[in-house]
Amino acid sequence: MFLIAGVQPKTRRVNDHPQRCPACGLTQAYTTRVDHYLSLFFIPLIRVRRGEPFLLCEGCQRPVDVGRTTVQEVPLSGTSSVCVACKRVFDSSFNYCPHCGQRA
Ligand SMILES: [Zn+2]
Ligand SMILES: [Zn+2]
Repeated sequence: MFLIAGVQPKTRRVNDHPQRCPACGLTQAYTTRVDHYLSLFFIPLIRVRRGEPFLLCEGCQRPVDVGRTTVQEVPLSGTSSVCVACKRVFDSSFNYCPHCGQRA
């Protein structure tokens, strides 16, 4: 008898409140979590690992790094603005602060 068992990742959306993606500018970045399940015959049975939540943009299909390394990097347009509300730096091409949503 041959059993098909293994650990498979399962992507789950943590909430339905999309945030603006700094990369593409679309409000399609959802808080997502990748949990790992022990599966048997492709049926997830036991959750073996609970992932850390992160922002995943459905426009670019890649994770959005908010408030970590990318924010302080060289802005796209060559100029940057400082948010009046949270004092963080963002690209001046944005109409709204990508960190807190304050209008620029
Ligand atoms: Zn995006
Ligand atoms: Zn801000």
